[in-house]
Amino acid sequence: MNDIILLKQGEIILKGLNRGAFERKLIENIKRRLSPIGKFKIYTMQSTVYIEPLGQCDMAAALDAARTVFGAVSVTRAAACEKDKDAIVEAAATYLESSLKAANTFKVESKRADKRFPMSSISLSQYVGGELHEKFPHLKPDMHNPEFMVNVEVRDMAAYVHGPAMRGAGGLPVGTGGRMVTLLSGGIDSPVASYMMAKRGVTLIPVHFYSHPYTSVQAKEKVIELSNILSKYCGRFKVELIPFTRIQEEIRNSCPEELLTVIMRRFMMRIAERIAKFHGCSAIVTGDNLGQVASQTTEALAVSEQCVDIPVFRPLIAFDKREITDIAQMIGTFETSILPYEDCCTVFTPRRPRTKPKLPDVQAAEELLDIENLIEDAIRCDS
Ligand code: ATP
Ligand code: MG
Repeated sequence: MNDIILLKQGEIILKGLNRGAFERKLIENIKRRLSPIGKFKIYTMQSTVYIEPLGQCDMAAALDAARTVFGAVSVTRAAACEKDKDAIVEAAATYLESSLKAANTFKVESKRADKRFPMSSISLSQYVGGELHEKFPHLKPDMHNPEFMVNVEVRDMAAYVHGPAMRGAGGLPVGTGGRMVTLLSGGIDSPVASYMMAKRGVTLIPVHFYSHPYTSVQAKEKVIELSNILSKYCGRFKVELIPFTRIQEEIRNSCPEELLTVIMRRFMMRIAERIAKFHGCSAIVTGDNLGQVASQTTEALAVSEQCVDIPVFRPLIAFDKREITDIAQMIGTFETSILPYEDCCTVFTPRRPRTKPKLPDVQAAEELLDIENLIEDAIRCDS
């Protein structure tokens, strides 16, 4: 019996004329994710992606990997069998044996995408249910609240039998939503913000600023580790490391202390914009969250982004910390994010940062800096 993975397309099915392009991207992304696990035949039909192993492979690992690919609402392992009512019963009894033995009540639900199949969905469910009841006499049918649901799908090429499907990653395939630069610190928030934008199909170029020797090698490695974790969801996700020490020192030496953070942020934005234009990206993503720290008031955020002319997206703006940490835990970045290595933002923090900075004050302070030269220098040293 063939064990395969079925992946149900999500929002893609609403994409009229562009749907083919979305499906191709989805398949391309699944192929890339599964290539280290084994060889598979991957194709899509009737809003479902079929992942068939070609030879021996770790199907549990393949299922885990398939669950991280954006574009699917549900993912399940299934047994493929002949489109024949008794073959379906046999497949269900064998493939789902342990679950059927463990449950007390069950229900069979059938879908018939192949309308040439000689039984209606209801009569197929009744037939398979009756036969399974014979084979597992302890099992009682329960139409309203079954402990275990047996799903039967009769499709063009074969029939498939499976238990309850798992939730897929949702969203849209990465690569269908344009390109953006994402500002990745070592904190909890920016990896989550990156994940959320990738979920909307965006290809991301991560950028990290470090302030050697004020920040340690471990702080940089932590960000590389975070980007490795995120590449599971985001596809290629190689972080660009930008030295920030000289900029921070110049700001500290020349600007009023209470404006250090906002001016530093404006440099991050300007550099991100340069990198964005170089890579053909149309926006910048950050993990900012309203009111979390002094630099995240509406006024401070507005002044931070006023120096760039591409949009700045902040997907976490209205989340609370609990919601953010829940996602961080789910995607596996939390444990790395809480490693205690300092970020460049915590170096030279003003004692009393201005929570409502005024643009003219900030611009006046920046006049003492050779902005262009500092930016050029940082980008040139990009490692
Ligand atoms: P995070 O948990 O993402 O670090 P935070 O709550 O600590 O966020 P800040 O340190 O004020 O907030 O940073 C706000 C945003 O600025 C971050 O989410 C990130 O997008 C960006 N950022 C901060 N530090 C860096 C850095 N060293 N390199 C790149 N981006 C950064
Ligand atoms: Mg931070």
